[in-house]
Amino acid sequence: MSLDSPEFSRGALLYQGKAKQVYATHDPARIIIHYTDGATAFNGLKKAEIADKGVINCRISAFFMEKVAAAGVPVAFERNLNDRDQLCLAVDIIPVEVVVRNVVAGGLARKLGLPEGQKLPAPLVEHFYKSDTLNDPQINESTAVLLGWAKAWELRAMHEYSLRVNSVLQAFWNELGIDLVDFKLEFGRVSIGSATAVVLADEITPDGSRLWERSTGRHLDKDVFRRDLGDLSETYRELYKRVFGKTV
Ligand code: 5GP
Repeated sequence: MSLDSPEFSRGALLYQGKAKQVYATHDPARIIIHYTDGATAFNGLKKAEIADKGVINCRISAFFMEKVAAAGVPVAFERNLNDRDQLCLAVDIIPVEVVVRNVVAGGLARKLGLPEGQKLPAPLVEHFYKSDTLNDPQINESTAVLLGWAKAWELRAMHEYSLRVNSVLQAFWNELGIDLVDFKLEFGRVSIGSATAVVLADEITPDGSRLWERSTGRHLDKDVFRRDLGDLSETYRELYKRVFGKTV
């Protein structure tokens, strides 16, 4: 079956995430990410259904994955199959999450007692061990290498790709008068013959980013839900309109 086959459809459920599900396809090299309307915060303690969030995130993530791929970052994303299903390369997820920060907020503000909103002199790249049971603790790169979670060269590639993603996203949001405060990325390994490559996996969405409207400081991201700042569905619809110039 060719890559452009329209016949990719969801097979066995491989992984049940908080806002997404991952399904097998007939092709062992490809999976489908299905975006649901589920929202969780505080490692699943707070839960809600947010109307159309899955559709909005599926389209926004595709839009940004294409942008960063065009900038030379290899991505697992291939194409959207419909409003909620995304065809991606099957990857072996590296259990090290990368957070890039341009402005102090959230975890960094809490940890160091810094005021939210303080601009950082350069992008700060942080690493977290992907573990729900441990609440994704912060680690450094030596820990990841020593414990076998990632190779040094993989971490170097992740670092370089994360900064490139930051430049692409920052330029885009800047044009819309929105500050990209921080965001989280996940990477995976794909085999190409006997070699392994690192690719950007998962999603690029307002669920995993902080986006602050420059003129008002208004939050246009999942903190609206985490911090009870308003209606997340309305916020995401508004963000969608600014990105695509039309309503969902
Ligand atoms: P913080 O460490 O300040 O809580 O989060 C930093 C950035 O990474 C924020 O943009 C936040 O949305 C994102 N982030 C960190 N961990 C997660 C996570 O487990 N899920 C999601 N959706 N985003 C995360």
